[in-house]
Amino acid sequence: MDEWDSDAVISTAKKLSSYRLCDSCLGRQFATVSHGMSNEERGAIIRQLLGLEKVEVEECWLCGGMMGELGKFAEMVVEAMEKYEYETFLVGSRVEKEITAKEDEILSLTEYGESIKREINREVGKLVSASTGKEVDFIRPHITAIINTQYDDIELDIRPLYIYGRYRKLIRGIPQTKWPCRKCNGIGCEYCHGTGKMYEESVEEIIAKRAVEIAEGGEEYFHGAGREDIDVLMLGNGRPFILEIREPRRRKIDLSDLQKEINSFGKGKVEVSELRFAEKKEIEKLKAMKATKTYRVIISFDEKGKINE
Ligand SMILES: [Zn+2]
Ligand SMILES: [Zn+2]
Repeated sequence: MDEWDSDAVISTAKKLSSYRLCDSCLGRQFATVSHGMSNEERGAIIRQLLGLEKVEVEECWLCGGMMGELGKFAEMVVEAMEKYEYETFLVGSRVEKEITAKEDEILSLTEYGESIKREINREVGKLVSASTGKEVDFIRPHITAIINTQYDDIELDIRPLYIYGRYRKLIRGIPQTKWPCRKCNGIGCEYCHGTGKMYEESVEEIIAKRAVEIAEGGEEYFHGAGREDIDVLMLGNGRPFILEIREPRRRKIDLSDLQKEINSFGKGKVEVSELRFAEKKEIEKLKAMKATKTYRVIISFDEKGKINE
């Protein structure tokens, strides 16, 4: 690691000294020089080494004051996420082209720099974490909040809820999934008596209704292991499924309570068991699964041991 007073760092700093940069933007060009400090602190060190005057953030050639708005961005993110239940989050950002173009120019002059987006994401993430007590998760956050710095807008990406279980279908005449009316395609017409559906109910709807209500979710998708005919029962230990609920506001769901609610709602028709939370990647495995069918075959043997079915 280079030291602050190494020739390489000093000569890089001299190349950058003609730009009017706030401490954050100056320090960011030396992000890999020494750990455990903020870019703003790095900027102050460089400024003192070269005897440069401090540039107020509003006067900064690169960010034009944006680095002074991180606290505001953090508040916006916290407010946007408030109505959702979450334990982990991640902050991302979209920064206007004008700034990223200037940044490309300046980053070509240093070998120690990092991008402004990276700094925004990290610093806003720290502020949000401090104010909410929730943790940053880079791999599978419950919510990803994207800050649009140009329009002061927050876009949320809410991780869906996936609930695995097995269902038994106790009566005939119910399709596995929702079946939109073939005449109106779901809008509602005379043919379907305004329901938009070919059948009054489905395994999917019976299972999803209470789950979506409890999770305060949006759309739901039902992923079954294989399909089955409408007139076939599903008994034994049941068919595996994963219910996907988009944009859930509640995640801490008591699945044994949910199971009871589904089973009382679906009484005599559909029964679920083994509910547990699942991951998205399990859906593909589930779909590839061939539901095993059991057939009873009578086999008799003749005297030479040859099999006659
Ligand atoms: Zn700046
Ligand atoms: Zn219709």
